[in-house]
Amino acid sequence: MVISKNMENLVANSSVIRRLFEEGVELAAVVGKENVYDYSLGNPSVAPPEAVKKAVYHILESRDPNFVHGYMNNSGYEEVRDAVAASLNRRFATDFVRDNIIMTVGAAGGLNCILRALLDPGDEVICFAPFFGEYRSYVSNFAGTLVMIPADTETFQLNLDVLDGYITEKTKALIINNPNNPSGAVYSAQTLDRLQAIIEKAQERIGHPVYVISDEPYRELVYDGLTVPFMTKHVKNCIVCYSFSKSLSLPGERIGYLAIPGQIDAYDEVQPAIVVANRCLGYVNAPSLFQLVIGECIDAEVDVETYDRNRILLYNSLTEMGFQCVKPQGAFYLFVKSPVADENEFVEAAKKHNLIIVSAKSFGCPGYVRLAYCVSYDMIQRSIPAFKALAQEYFG
Ligand code: PLP
Repeated sequence: MVISKNMENLVANSSVIRRLFEEGVELAAVVGKENVYDYSLGNPSVAPPEAVKKAVYHILESRDPNFVHGYMNNSGYEEVRDAVAASLNRRFATDFVRDNIIMTVGAAGGLNCILRALLDPGDEVICFAPFFGEYRSYVSNFAGTLVMIPADTETFQLNLDVLDGYITEKTKALIINNPNNPSGAVYSAQTLDRLQAIIEKAQERIGHPVYVISDEPYRELVYDGLTVPFMTKHVKNCIVCYSFSKSLSLPGERIGYLAIPGQIDAYDEVQPAIVVANRCLGYVNAPSLFQLVIGECIDAEVDVETYDRNRILLYNSLTEMGFQCVKPQGAFYLFVKSPVADENEFVEAAKKHNLIIVSAKSFGCPGYVRLAYCVSYDMIQRSIPAFKALAQEYFG
């Protein structure tokens, strides 16, 4: 092999989800697209708000093209960072200013910048299962070690009872994803206050800060009137990593931001390091046109109702059939307990009914599967007989 050892591993373990998606495409070629029920990918099905299209036209028609397509500060355009800070301050009573905001290449870009800034080889990053499997690659990019806390499968809340035992002198950061992909759980203010208390104590023990990275691409996708607490209000050393991939249905545009509050320990070291990380990782800056679009659409929203209808139909149908599901409070995934110990067996059985679902092993939670319900309502309706036939195999 000419490629690096690290890359060899990443390629070998690379995206089970993508492979499944491709199998779905192959299956569609045989049985017809309308007969394949693909729940594999978290690609938004709700259209971006009309305001996004209007902003693109408006910016292209009204602004200097060299400004629109040019380099800018590595943190992003000042006017856009001002707009993001003002929006956060309005919504969450925070006191961000332009310098607290760094525009990023989606959440993935933002996470990589933070980890680049914080990690030395061998440093540890803790995350709670189930978690977005790509965290493994992001941490390994900087020779860090991802330490996983097993899931609390009773509640799917953060397994805080055991957290302290996982924090060592090597711990540099902890990643929290709220609302959670894949469980759909939302963590409450009380949970986050408890998290802060545990971290504060552990920091005294280990003698250095532990940064909490709050990965929040699903912040606005919540149901039943829930709201997601704003992390920096509860956790002192928290850096918020946000993305418009899901909240405005713009995953291909690669646009998000980091909010780094002045209250974090060593802010004067961390903030400039993250700005330089954006450059030295080769992103240089977030995509220019879509930064400006965000500046004009900062308070736009996608139609969450559509996902909610999908959620209710899928959750109610599957639980009625006998499947055990975690009721999603946010995001657009349904987390289902496999009726057999080996969830891969279940995934294969589902495939025979043209249902494409994903094993949660890569999310650190074997024995479960994930269904992405960011699909059409019509597809969910058409898939119900297939789920019924699958349920028949397990529950009679
Ligand atoms: N974090 C979580 C929890 C995700 O689910 C995803 C994408 O699915 C990302 C980060 C990456 O998002 P982005 O497209 O903004 O890079």
